Amino acid sequence: MPIQILAPEVANQIAAGEVVERPASVVKELIENSLDAGATDIRVEIREGGRRLVRVQDDGCGIPVGETHLLFRRHATSKISSTDDLNRLTTLGFRGEALASIAAVAHVTLLTRARGEELGTLIRVAEGREVDRQPVGGPVGTTVTVEHLFANIPARLKFLKRPATEAGHIHEIVTRYALAYPERRLSLVSDGRLVFQSSGSGRLYDVLVRVYGPEMAKQMLPLAEDGSPESPAEEEQTGLQPSVRVAGYVSAPGLNRSNRNYISLFINRRWFQDASLAYSVIQAYHTLLPTGRYPVALIFISMDPADVDVNVHPTKAEVRFRDSQAVFRAVQRAVRRAVVAHAPIPALGLEPSTMSGEPAWSSHTPFEEEAPRRPDLAAGPVQPIPPVVLRPPAQEDVPRQPSFPGPAAIPGRDRQLVPILRVVGQLSATYIVAEGPDGLYLIDQHAAHERILYEQMLTDHAAGRTAVQPLLEPVVLELKPEQAAVVAEALETLNELGIAIEPFGGHSYLVRTMPALLSRDEPESALTAIIDSLVSADNLVENTREARLVTAICKRAAIKGGQVLSMSEMQELVRRLEACQTPRTCPHGRPTMIYLSAAELARQFGRT
Ligand code: ADP
Ligand code: MG
Repeated sequence: MPIQILAPEVANQIAAGEVVERPASVVKELIENSLDAGATDIRVEIREGGRRLVRVQDDGCGIPVGETHLLFRRHATSKISSTDDLNRLTTLGFRGEALASIAAVAHVTLLTRARGEELGTLIRVAEGREVDRQPVGGPVGTTVTVEHLFANIPARLKFLKRPATEAGHIHEIVTRYALAYPERRLSLVSDGRLVFQSSGSGRLYDVLVRVYGPEMAKQMLPLAEDGSPESPAEEEQTGLQPSVRVAGYVSAPGLNRSNRNYISLFINRRWFQDASLAYSVIQAYHTLLPTGRYPVALIFISMDPADVDVNVHPTKAEVRFRDSQAVFRAVQRAVRRAVVAHAPIPALGLEPSTMSGEPAWSSHTPFEEEAPRRPDLAAGPVQPIPPVVLRPPAQEDVPRQPSFPGPAAIPGRDRQLVPILRVVGQLSATYIVAEGPDGLYLIDQHAAHERILYEQMLTDHAAGRTAVQPLLEPVVLELKPEQAAVVAEALETLNELGIAIEPFGGHSYLVRTMPALLSRDEPESALTAIIDSLVSADNLVENTREARLVTAICKRAAIKGGQVLSMSEMQELVRRLEACQTPRTCPHGRPTMIYLSAAELARQFGRT
């Protein structure tokens, strides 16, 4: 076939394919137009998942009669006129493609009356051609009805899913805009039934309750209004642009999901996708979530429109930031701060009604803990004074710079993360029973000690004070190939953390020192256990090698369940836990303590 320019209908249909993929795309474009028109009440109606009909009715500014002839032309828009305008976008639309694209693949009826005009207009378009136009009366605003979607493109029609699935996609789109615009009222009627409506009260929390339900909403933590740094020093350290602001809600660690689809990101009220930014949200839960679990999050970022390019993709689902690092840091800090400051201690509900939603810790892998070794070998909660210092201690006036995001890196946290506790005794040689001002606390001695050692090791490492214990005789480790592979990769980190280890030919390694935390352990089996934890580490949240290694070392060094502790050892353990930055979970994200309130006790005993 010789080269030829495609006929306009063909070209339009090809271009439309990028914008209109399914009924939900139509809903998205029409809602955006209504929002841009300043509507405060937007009603979406669908039939058969949008296949039969999509109608969006708004009370926005309407379209002046004199402009209606351009409506369905490609690149016809009232929102920008120059390329400069792209740098100061305040509207959701700007490409002038939506109505043209929809009209290329469906029958469209548009009814509109502009504010200040006596008469409105009714236009019908089929297969991209105007088939009817007449002046009509009616309220100010616009109603667009889309029928016979993809009737002229059987290939597309074939790819549509069941009506219920398509309706689900539409539901998601409507709730997304309702969350981004709490001051507007959005409703969705599906096959004659009202399935969603926001109040338009202007309060994000109200929409949150409508979208997720009251139980889940209760477990969402607000992000601080302002994501800007607390002190100038911090600003300098992160280089954060003061213009990046972060607001929204994130789940307390107890509320989590098995995939990342519950992380929603918005930039200047526009929903977008960004895998690495979603990952920065997950990272903010570092050590607070069980393996394989993900938070629920609604993150609203706002910044100068000039610092973000939304014109990357026809559906605008992806954006490009001028300084993406600054955005990542702002998001991570805001989330981390909220989570650490507000995360509640899991409450022990004896009645089902006192447990909210999904049990917080039900779905992670069962607690795997090594059997207690010889009790006299295990390190007690009070660590001996470290015998050797790896590097000279950092000068006092040099600020500590933790080398990876960990509990030590949170500035200005609220210190009241656990109340002052009075130790009552030990249960099953595994749990410490303690009394707080408002009830009973059960502390898992292994998890708590892991947390204490973890924070201690990180702080020491950051300050260059990692304590090491030279071995009397160097130990030769014969490793399996997969073990040797992780050791080869982590050699530098191992050495930094006090395990002086060097290649000794083949899969053998020579070890000269151990971290002081493990000084009372048997070096060969301790190392093998740590290396094996590295081999099997699959916790996405623990992203850095140091963090994984420190976690593995602390797991090994921590006292085990089944070990009897003296009263003073338990008191010391609790005191040190109280002083931790993130005392409520162990480094693997399991709770260190659970709580039974005095009120719950009273209820159980029928005192109330
Ligand atoms: P864009 O939104 O990118 O400008 P569209 O094809 O979606 O392109 O819409 C074209 C133009 O039609 C808009 O710029 C706007 O002027 C007008 N328009 C579309 N929908 C509405 C509406 N619901 N209310 C008022 N004006 C509308
Ligand atoms: Mg538009």
